[in-house]
Amino acid sequence: MLDGVKPRIGVLALQGDVREHLHALEACGADVVPVRRESELAAVDGLVLPGGESTTISKLLEVFDLLEPVRQRLRDGLPAYGSCAGMILLASEVLDTRPDMKPLHGIDMTVRRNAFGRQVDSFEADVDFAGLDGPVRAVFIRAPWVERAGDGVEVLARVPAGPAAGRIVAVRQGNVMATSFHPEVTGDLRVHKLFVDTVVRPRAGV
Ligand code: GLN
Repeated sequence: MLDGVKPRIGVLALQGDVREHLHALEACGADVVPVRRESELAAVDGLVLPGGESTTISKLLEVFDLLEPVRQRLRDGLPAYGSCAGMILLASEVLDTRPDMKPLHGIDMTVRRNAFGRQVDSFEADVDFAGLDGPVRAVFIRAPWVERAGDGVEVLARVPAGPAAGRIVAVRQGNVMATSFHPEVTGDLRVHKLFVDTVVRPRAGV
């Protein structure tokens, strides 16, 4: 954050756990705003794509005429963070999704949707997260994983143990970050803080 000026961070508010992200971001000191239309998108310095249902959010992005505007802002360097469905949306390629789902190409990665399978629909694990001291309690709910991370993509976290050990569950490319899990539901603000710190509010008149 620059000189105490609050960054304005939007949460895409078409479907999913919007409120949890708004609360977490606010607690991190951001000025928060739900984004449902292009004018709201134009006014934010960073964007969070929440967990929810990626195919539904993808469809609604088109219905609300936001698909191309969001893609354009990402191309222009808008800092973004996606959790779970948000990670799927930020991918350049998605496996096991509907053929008409349109990813946002925010990160050069292939993401497999509902990757952990039905038996382990939802689970929790303590994961080490690059840049954070001490593990993060990660809540996975029908979560994706990153099957391919492109050359410019930094791996931030992997599943520590069990049948999916080693699978990539958090990444960052430039100022776009994604997690398979939901830090917005645990009360641990460190992942949101990491994102908020990358968002700088340009000062008017400077
Ligand atoms: N399985 C969901 C999807 O495909 C993601 C689940 C979540 O965001 N908790 O979008």
